[in-house]
Amino acid sequence: MTVDLDEITEHDMSDECPVCRTQDIVELALVPAAAAWELRNGLPRFSIALHGAASLLGALLEEGVAREDVEAALSGLLDGIEQQIEEDQVMGGPPQGNA
Ligand SMILES: [Zn+2]
Repeated sequence: MTVDLDEITEHDMSDECPVCRTQDIVELALVPAAAAWELRNGLPRFSIALHGAASLLGALLEEGVAREDVEAALSGLLDGIEQQIEEDQVMGGPPQGNA
């Protein structure tokens, strides 16, 4: 079975874009669940997030996808996330809390 990384990483610009829908699910369900598992199990913050991400990506390696392709896809996604963080900070102004 071949895995088409482009198909699952490139936005199709529709209202039903599978990339946007996947990111919504991850943000709403997976990210808070990982944080809760870390807290409940007394694990360091982001340990489930990091190892979970690596294990999930490991499944791609098991499918025979080349590591370079996985790393390139991940790098592209992280670029997008960094860009989003910058945009959010511009929109929301400086971080709140130390005033
Ligand atoms: Zn999209």
